[in-house]
Amino acid sequence: MRANCWMGRSHVEVQDVPDPRILNSRDAIVRITSTAICGSDLHLYNGFIPTMEKGDVLGHEFMGEVVETGPDVTGLRVGDRVVVPFPIACGGCDACEHGLFSVCENSNPNAGVAEKMMGYSPAGIFGYSHMLGGFPGGQAEYARVPFADVGPIRIDDGLPDEQVLFLSDIFPTGWMGAEMCDITPGDVIAVWGAGPVGQFAIASAFLMGAERVIAIDRFPYRLRKAESSGAEVLDYERTDVREALRDMTAGRGPDACIDAVGVEAHHPAPLMYGYDRAKQAARVETDRPFALREAIMACRNGGVVAVVGVYGGFVDKFPMGSLMNRSITLRGAQCHVHRYLRPLLDRIRAGDIDPAFVISHRMRLEDAPCGYEMFRQKEDDCLKVVLTP
Ligand code: NAD
Ligand code: ZN
Ligand code: ZN
Repeated sequence: MRANCWMGRSHVEVQDVPDPRILNSRDAIVRITSTAICGSDLHLYNGFIPTMEKGDVLGHEFMGEVVETGPDVTGLRVGDRVVVPFPIACGGCDACEHGLFSVCENSNPNAGVAEKMMGYSPAGIFGYSHMLGGFPGGQAEYARVPFADVGPIRIDDGLPDEQVLFLSDIFPTGWMGAEMCDITPGDVIAVWGAGPVGQFAIASAFLMGAERVIAIDRFPYRLRKAESSGAEVLDYERTDVREALRDMTAGRGPDACIDAVGVEAHHPAPLMYGYDRAKQAARVETDRPFALREAIMACRNGGVVAVVGVYGGFVDKFPMGSLMNRSITLRGAQCHVHRYLRPLLDRIRAGDIDPAFVISHRMRLEDAPCGYEMFRQKEDDCLKVVLTP
């Protein structure tokens, strides 16, 4: 089959690779009809997530048709149309039973590697490094889906791929970020990053009853998109974000802050940017946490900072004093997608939201390298690329 493979830093290639096969009795093989490129894929493309190997098949946002099932797969049949959540979860371990699917205890065969880096291992993830399982991803014609009786959600009605594909990742992720904010009526929520994840966090915060949402980014087309969802916007290259947020909230700060930026944050001040870039390059610090630092410092006393932007390792100059003295709650997770599939599908069916609003580019799988480059450079107002095999 054809698949988009990681070939090294800034290099992906669509190649012929072996077709996936059923390896375990609860596996299914899915013929992919739609897949997408995620901001998390850019962290791989840019070389910030360790334990990638040349030839690894990328992609963790995908859907399609079940073409084969292992003997122990219940609840799914050949011919079913499914969306597949990006974390792989067994459904039966302690974490899964508590709804913490992205930290499933049974789905990462390389848990030992992750333990060295993080203490304990999170779940395996499709197409996301050997540390997280080494599972071939979904930017391909077919994918093997482990625990197929647990993750995939069947889409029985005629909703088009583009409306349901993002149930695999970014819609639940944005939703979870907003949910972590414990929104009550009247709340003001600030969102760093107006990428696809930020856009879903903004829309979700409004659906949960936030009175105001303030989006922070530097790309005008992304800020315009946030405005069209009802957000107020700040361009961090033109505004002192902390001062502006203070002014906009009667001197108190937003009730909760969402970091939808992650490890590759950019900073307009050359000195700070240079400091973290240099430490990152020297491997003294793995992640560049500008948005995270700013979100903590900007949050009101007693507020919540929800981290859905991805971090890989260690950060520097972490404002622990601000967090501790000001009673701030810090939360974060890879999305527990499985939890949100049914309720968010119901939201889409009810017309509360049409997730296709983030799509800016549609391409063939064969053009994935061009899609990666365009998404990385934010060229041609690129917000979200959907690929069809
Ligand atoms: P993206 O690259 O399209 O968006 C990131 C945005 O952040 C860009 O628009 C960029 O301009 C902006 N940004 C950079 N530095 C900033 C700063 N200092 N202040 C404010 N904005 C800044 O990516 P995306 O697809 O929207 O993903 C966003 C993050 O969410 C990534 O880290 C991705 O890995 C992560 N993610 C996490 C999960 C999860 O389960 N937790 C799921 C999907 C994606
Ligand atoms: Zn993703
Ligand atoms: Zn589990």
